[in-house]
Amino acid sequence: MPGDTSFFVINGDTTCFLTDSQGKRVFIGENEASKSVITGEQPKPGPDDGAFKGSVFVVGLILIIFGGRVLLARVLKAYRVKLSKGAYDSNFGWYYKELSIYNTYFRSLPGPQQEKFVQRTVSFMFNKRFTYEGIEADDRMPLLISAAAVQITFGLNKYHLDYFKDIFVYREDYQHGLYNQPFMGHVSADGIHLSWNNFMKGYENYSDAENVGIHEMAHALTYDNFMSGELGGDAGFKERFADFSRIARPLFNQMRQGKVGLLNSYAATNYHEFWAVAVETFFEKPVEMKAELGELYAAMCWLLNQDPLQPNKILNNALLTSRKAFR
Ligand SMILES: [Zn+2]
Repeated sequence: MPGDTSFFVINGDTTCFLTDSQGKRVFIGENEASKSVITGEQPKPGPDDGAFKGSVFVVGLILIIFGGRVLLARVLKAYRVKLSKGAYDSNFGWYYKELSIYNTYFRSLPGPQQEKFVQRTVSFMFNKRFTYEGIEADDRMPLLISAAAVQITFGLNKYHLDYFKDIFVYREDYQHGLYNQPFMGHVSADGIHLSWNNFMKGYENYSDAENVGIHEMAHALTYDNFMSGELGGDAGFKERFADFSRIARPLFNQMRQGKVGLLNSYAATNYHEFWAVAVETFFEKPVEMKAELGELYAAMCWLLNQDPLQPNKILNNALLTSRKAFR
């Protein structure tokens, strides 16, 4: 979408995992000093004795800190789940009404799917911190923005886009960094940024394939999957992305060479924009996309495990192994 950007790399269309410190293992081996203590002998302080004690202290400290963080994360998660379930029970009617008014995708779902959609949306909303820049907060904002993320991830197991803790909402186009052009939205390591007026316009006209909410969530989805490390993101999405690219890359290359077609010309900017524009078109012009870019449409259905033209949307329920909406 003109006036947006994203900062990440996908190597060869597949994955670009960052290495992280999690998964490091610390082994504490036996040594003569510890055996001596067990047998009652006075250990003889050796040249390494101080270093050994220091190592034990450091390792112990790391374990305490790491264990404490894990425990804290579990407590916070349980609290968030409790809050989101409570909000869902108390406000379901209001969520349902607002989503019915403003979200065309939600309106097209059958009843049971709508229930699942609201659950996922509330859960997503309670997993993010929303910050409002130059605009008064409104309960509708986090709800509808969360719904845009849930829409594109509706066929995936993992939908929280956990890489991002923060979502920033602006009144309208905003300046970012040293860019001259104002932004409608962007995604970077610090969070997902959206201008509210443009977000609403995107859903007001749901047939022009211009939807900044869907566009930025598409960036956020690949960012989350390819920058969160091996355990982050949705395993199925990561596996299937290479299949998608086998179809999408040649089409992107054709656009770079000047071929004009259904996709907005902004898709030719780079492959990340091609991806985000293709997702916008997939949801807002599915009939045209299926007719004109049938292979790309099918590849997108396969990748996202959903077909916007089907009433139930989800193509393969067996891929949704995790049934819990509140997580
Ligand atoms: Zn973009």
